[in-house]
Amino acid sequence: MVKGRKPLARYRRIVIKIGSALLVDRQTGLKNGWLDGLCADIAALRAGGADVLVVSSGAIALGRTVLKLPAGLLKLEESQAAAAVGQIALARAWSESLSRDGIVAGQILLTLGDTEERRRYLNARATISQLLKLGSIPIINENDTVATTEIRYGDNDRLAARVATMTGADLLILLSDIDGLYTAPPHLDPDARFLDTIAAITPEIEAMAGGAASELSRGGMRTKIDAGKIATGAGCAMIIASGKIDHPLQTIEDGARSSWFAPSGTPVTARKTWIAGQLQPAGTIEVDTGAETALRSGKSLLPAGVRAVSGHFSRGDTVAIRGLDGREIARGLAGYDAEDARRIAGKKSGEIAAILGYAGRAAMVHRDDLVMMGASAARPFETVEEGKDAAHA
Ligand code: GLU
Repeated sequence: MVKGRKPLARYRRIVIKIGSALLVDRQTGLKNGWLDGLCADIAALRAGGADVLVVSSGAIALGRTVLKLPAGLLKLEESQAAAAVGQIALARAWSESLSRDGIVAGQILLTLGDTEERRRYLNARATISQLLKLGSIPIINENDTVATTEIRYGDNDRLAARVATMTGADLLILLSDIDGLYTAPPHLDPDARFLDTIAAITPEIEAMAGGAASELSRGGMRTKIDAGKIATGAGCAMIIASGKIDHPLQTIEDGARSSWFAPSGTPVTARKTWIAGQLQPAGTIEVDTGAETALRSGKSLLPAGVRAVSGHFSRGDTVAIRGLDGREIARGLAGYDAEDARRIAGKKSGEIAAILGYAGRAAMVHRDDLVMMGASAARPFETVEEGKDAAHA
């Protein structure tokens, strides 16, 4: 049994992610009564001194109900339009519900670049922290009206984890129609065991995630485990709990079943957290075993140990560093543009100036810009497959 699970009231900054199915009924629309109960719980946490941030899904689900779009798969432009209609209603509902408890809501719509590009990331973070400073609760969602298939988070589980690491939260709560993690899908396997505490996200834990998704939400257990990797790696605990009851946060506090993921004991610096949490590295550098050993002992990556370079990236972009067996062993900021990196791959540092015509840096990736990925992070953040994208359904 891992120690450390605390009452919610003891956390300092809490990000709460709400799944679409909790907020939206496909026939009747927004579940206002449920939302009022949740907002009362949020107000109680705030009264106890915690900062609270909300990542709310539901824009597409609500919009398609309002627009009376037929059931079935939505085209991209239909889901973008649904999000435009749904988001305005969603934001209003949050604003009204929170105002009953005397709280002001502020809407933040993020696109992938807002967390993946360092400057935009710092900008978004500054806005969120200003909102918190002013006593407002940020209500965050992906900007689905402009998100395209290629450029989007696609699921709010990982978005919420990014928000948690971005804001230095110490707890992320994922509320959905699933009450936690089981050793196997409980509806398929009568022997499935519920896990109330997860000390570390090992490959075994990842294997339990499968790919299940409910009709209204994009994220299944897979994206929740990915979110757990992002959050716990940055020292933020995570809870997966059911939101299908009124006052879901109070219910967790009262001891309802939920899965708690322990935060990593050695959180890395904020900058390295940002590097490790990048959802889409711009390229890949494959290294030999000598370089892998050097990286593991805390050294920089030199061109001599590089076997291959793929992708298009500029100096300063995040690249994935893989061993010969294809496992991702580290991530870092490239010291060279992809083209130059390819030219000096495998070459000794002393040869670089002659090849490039300028004296470049000694390191392909400097150790200050490098973060090792744990065994469990071998495939850190796979892109969500289209097929799983049930919010378009
Ligand atoms: N951003 C989507 C929406 O608000 C939801 C994504 C998700 O379900 O994870 O409709």
